[in-house]
Amino acid sequence: MVIKEAKFLMSNTKVEQCPAPTMPEYAFIGRSNVGKSSLINMLTEQKGLAKTSAQPGKTQLINHFLINDSWYLVDLPGYGYAKVSKGAREDWRKMINYYFQNRENLACVFVLIDSRHEPLKQDLDFINYLGNLGVPFVLVFTKADKQSSVKTDSTIAAYKRKLRETWDELPHIFVTSSEKRVGREELLNFIEEVNGQ
Ligand code: GDP
Repeated sequence: MVIKEAKFLMSNTKVEQCPAPTMPEYAFIGRSNVGKSSLINMLTEQKGLAKTSAQPGKTQLINHFLINDSWYLVDLPGYGYAKVSKGAREDWRKMINYYFQNRENLACVFVLIDSRHEPLKQDLDFINYLGNLGVPFVLVFTKADKQSSVKTDSTIAAYKRKLRETWDELPHIFVTSSEKRVGREELLNFIEEVNGQ
């Protein structure tokens, strides 16, 4: 898929205020600092589209972008900020839960995982939560340029082992590097395929 146009539409704290669900929607989420903003900017080829400097603890927003006038890219607030208060974490949980359960045009969630780390409980819990909800999702292993492909493969294998303990079917997996523009075609082609279904 060629990205002809990518524009920011709006930020919301409430799912009800999000754009009318008239187009398929692809949501990006992951732990803070996983490389979500960098990935969105790499995919859309717009350096400052998603803000890479979002500060933990700030208002948590659902950000909608309109791509090629035909689908929404959604930047969801991440999880795992160490300094966030219990209250803010609960607000995040409620908002995200409501979003996943009610956003009828949600076509797929891209769960971003740092390819450098062994499986983290927070990521596994989130994946299992999505699986239990029955929301379609894929895994995106980020920052692959930071180490050898052998190390990236070993991280992925470890996640697969963990997930097989609970699930018969494993999600689709992508490997990306925003730095080296790895995985861009694969992700965009996947979105194009799902859009065409
Ligand atoms: P976010 O908090 O998930 O939106 O993460 P950011 O996109 O702001 O990235 C967090 C940090 O990781 C920044 O310092 C980025 O420059 C760096 N980063 C993000 N993606 C990559 C990548 O693919 N490769 C490398 N080497 N660094 C990355």
